[in-house]
Amino acid sequence: MAVSSIPARPEDPARPVRAPRRPRGEGQWALGHREPLNPNERIKKDDDPLNVRARIENIYAHRGFASIDPQDLRGRFRWWGLYTQRKAGIDGGRTAVLEPHELEDEFFMLRVRVDGGQLSLAQLRVIADISREFARDTADITDRQNIQYHWIRVEDMPEIWRRLESVGLQTTEACGDCPRIVLGSPVAGVARDEVVDPTPAIDEIVRRYVGDKQFSNLPRKFKSSISWLVDTPYEANDIAFLGVEHPEHGPGFDLWVGGGLSTNPMLAKRLGVWVPLHEVPDVWAGVVGIFRDYGYRRLRNRARLKFLVADWGVEKFREVLEKEYLGRALLDGPPADLPTKPIDHIGVHPQRDGRHYVGAAPVVGRVSGSQLARLADVVEAHGSDRVRLTPYQKLLVLDVPPERTESLVEALRGIGLEARPSAWRRGTMACTGIEYCKLAIVETKARGEELVARLEQRLRDFDADISIHINGCPNACARTQVADIGLKGQLVVGPDRRQVEGFQVHLGGGLGMAEGQTAGFGRKLRGLKTTAEELPEYVERLARRYLAGRNEGE
Ligand code: SF4
Repeated sequence: MAVSSIPARPEDPARPVRAPRRPRGEGQWALGHREPLNPNERIKKDDDPLNVRARIENIYAHRGFASIDPQDLRGRFRWWGLYTQRKAGIDGGRTAVLEPHELEDEFFMLRVRVDGGQLSLAQLRVIADISREFARDTADITDRQNIQYHWIRVEDMPEIWRRLESVGLQTTEACGDCPRIVLGSPVAGVARDEVVDPTPAIDEIVRRYVGDKQFSNLPRKFKSSISWLVDTPYEANDIAFLGVEHPEHGPGFDLWVGGGLSTNPMLAKRLGVWVPLHEVPDVWAGVVGIFRDYGYRRLRNRARLKFLVADWGVEKFREVLEKEYLGRALLDGPPADLPTKPIDHIGVHPQRDGRHYVGAAPVVGRVSGSQLARLADVVEAHGSDRVRLTPYQKLLVLDVPPERTESLVEALRGIGLEARPSAWRRGTMACTGIEYCKLAIVETKARGEELVARLEQRLRDFDADISIHINGCPNACARTQVADIGLKGQLVVGPDRRQVEGFQVHLGGGLGMAEGQTAGFGRKLRGLKTTAEELPEYVERLARRYLAGRNEGE
């Protein structure tokens, strides 16, 4: 009998009745999905990534790079701040087509977490010594207040950890699907307009939860920010606490959740609650618990907390937090006051104790260990023993006697750190880029240095605040979407029709500002692209057009 190729119509009584399809699920643990749905989830389930530290110290450091299990190398090493770095000489066109092992070198990038950006002189000296001895003098300041080394060998890790930990520094969970560094105000504890110093809450979170296996297997990275002042890019974090005065209960913190940039950018949303300082660690742990249990684990690119917050909405998120994780209701609270422009603390400023702090800019966060060693000498010679890193790839020297500030400004200039920088140097950041990053498509740091030098030469007296964020790929580590000029690295068509390094341009973004200012994402316009070669001329043209067309007082 011939079989008809025409499918049965739905109402055909002869059509076999299928069981309703089970929802596929997003891999949420709280809904019973415990089987890993992708290789990353498998690696985490097979062995807690924190366990790899013992293997590094007992096996890999002795037997060398070739002995490293690939699942440890490309998976679990990140939980200890280690990524393989990109092999030199592989151009961005091959980033997407080569296998991970073809791109990687046998050297590592190592991230040191500096929670709250707070460093003592002793810690600064250890960071500088490690850089010179083990990292070929590299020590970039990242836009998350970390220090990032390159050229690290696995053989040196036990000694590096010994030295870092001897001064209270760590690389634990500096990368990986876990709670990363907690951003904090670089002037916490000294700012004149700070009402509550949130440092105790940051310290408590780090003490209780960093390296704790209850949070070492999250669906993706988890970024935090806790500050009284609005001087961190708080909306770009999974969780943020901002200082606020409650009319009845006094000073506390306004809670935001679900921010993140990358390829699907979303700004964090207010939960509308007021959290006193002593409750911040518990509330933080409640939000991380929701992420661990309800976060999506099927697709890596839908696994950040922002997707859950977007799907649930803030009312449901708050309800689950209160009922399932805290066991009590949170108090409603007012929104924090937002400034009219981002605060970067560059220059000389008074502290509340009468001393001063001085904020200085390297170029695109690039410093060397030698420079940091000289910085430690300069800091000590000016009567201070505290330095802070900022989320804008800059640094501050605290506690300077007022009569020593000018001498300090000169001494910093002498080591390449400028406390009175041009608008270009002050506002330009760059991610790691093709020099070391395996995901990069274009060079960033060197391009940034060249861009700043060219613009300082050609537009020396440019007098407006401007932010330029240079990124080597769509991942937006240097916050592409929230700059006046955001640059996303990609291949573009060059003058001779060949593909060359270039950037998609986003214009007019900003963070940390009151409504009515430019807070939000920059506009990405299809035709707005430039080759990397032409970037300085491109930015110069934009700046000149802005100067010619700006309004009085703008
Ligand atoms: Fe690497 Fe891309 Fe992040 Fe830059 S934005 S550091 S190139 S992943």
